[in-house]
Parts: sequence; structure tokens; C-alpha cells
Amino acid sequence: PAFADMKVPRPILDYLRTKGIKKPSPIQIQGIPTAFAGRDMIGIAFTGSGKTLAFTLPAIMQSLEMEAKLPFVRGEGPVGLIICPSRELARQTYEGCVAMCDALKQTGQYPEIRSLLCIGGINMAEQGEVLNKGVHIVVATPGRLIDMLDKNKLNANNCKYLCMDEADRMIDMGFEEDVRSIMSHFKYQRQTLLFSATMPRKIQDFAQQSLIDPILVNV
Ligand code: AMP
Repeated sequence: PAFADMKVPRPILDYLRTKGIKKPSPIQIQGIPTAFAGRDMIGIAFTGSGKTLAFTLPAIMQSLEMEAKLPFVRGEGPVGLIICPSRELARQTYEGCVAMCDALKQTGQYPEIRSLLCIGGINMAEQGEVLNKGVHIVVATPGRLIDMLDKNKLNANNCKYLCMDEADRMIDMGFEEDVRSIMSHFKYQRQTLLFSATMPRKIQDFAQQSLIDPILVNV
């Protein structure tokens, strides 16, 4: 299968091609259709597998679908929430998302999909501007995200898509309670994706409690 068979928008395909990404990797072949279809998913994958695209692309595609049905109004969002164990990882993931959304925007044929990076050390006033416009995808570290949720700077009232990247690291770093607290802010039935390089007992238990009938993708 090719990216085009997975309903990935043409401008994103063209952009990925310029980055040398021409054919989907195994985690993408299985993960993108699963995540786009709304299923919960456990992805067992290391850095280098292409896992980031396997959850950012469906988040963008779902945001586009949502925009087509019911365009965002001021202050709404996000549709998708991606949480990462470190600021660096969150920043990289965010930048990848923005690059793909820019590629869409440049064609003038797609609604604007806005992303926001929520990590420590970032100016909250600047974030306020994007939040006022309505944001589709938030990429965050748990601490800063909880801070923003608790202060009502951000709400998960419209959020349907939650992805945890490097869940094993996240739990090892003691973020389990934070992640549960983030989940408690969701109002809608959510779709949950969990990506992890390893699957120790702790993560299996966590996944069993937090995901519904997940598809396991092991590459
Ligand atoms: P990740 O596993 O998400 O951290 O991605 C690792 C690297 O692989 C990143 O630099 C991506 O740009 C690149 N990459 C992701 N998907 C593909 C693909 N299908 N073909 C070639 N490179 C890819």
C-alpha cells in the first residue's frame, strides 16, 4: 500500500516526498488506517520506525474531517492531544505537524489546521493567541498540559483523540497519575493511542485500564 491509498491528502504526500518519505513504513501501513478509523491502538515501536507519522497524520486527517463537517469557531479545540515524555520530543513532534499543516495551507484548498506546543518554558501569552483562534492539535508534556487544563487556558471538551508517545518512558518518569488526570478532563468518548518501545507489565495494565478493545500493532 502507498500513502495515497490511506487517504493522506496530496499536499502532505508531496511534502513527505521532499523529505525522502515515499513509502509508508510497517507501523504506518498498519497504524494510519487504524488510527484514522477511530480505533484504539497500541503501537509497539522504536524511534526510527516512523511511529510519529503514524499518529500525527491521523490527527491531522481527523481534524480535516471535523472541519469539513463543523468548522471550528473561536476558542474551540483541540480535537487531538498528543502527549510526550520530554520537551524535546514534544517540540519535534509539533514541528513535524506544523510542516504538514503548512503544506496543506499553501494550496489554499484545505481549511487551516492549527497546532500548539504546550511545554514548560513556553510563553503562555503567545499560546493564548493561537488558542483564541481555535486549535486542532495540541502537542504537550504532561506537567504543562495539566497546568493549562487546571487554569482553564485549555479545555478538552472537544477532544476526541489522545495519543501517548513513548508511554514506557512516560510511566517510568512518574507521569502515570498526570496522564490519568488529563484523561479525566475529556468530555467525549475518546480514541486512545498508546505508543511504546517496550511493553512491561505496568504498561499492559495501564493500557488495559485506559484503552477500549485496542488493535495491537507490533512491528
Ligand atoms: P520516528 O520513528 O517517528 O521517530 O521517525 C524517525 C525518522 O524516520 C524521522 O526522521 C522521519 O522523518 C523518518 N521517516 C518516517 N517515516 C518514514 C518513511 N515512511 N520512509 C522514510 N523515512 C521515514
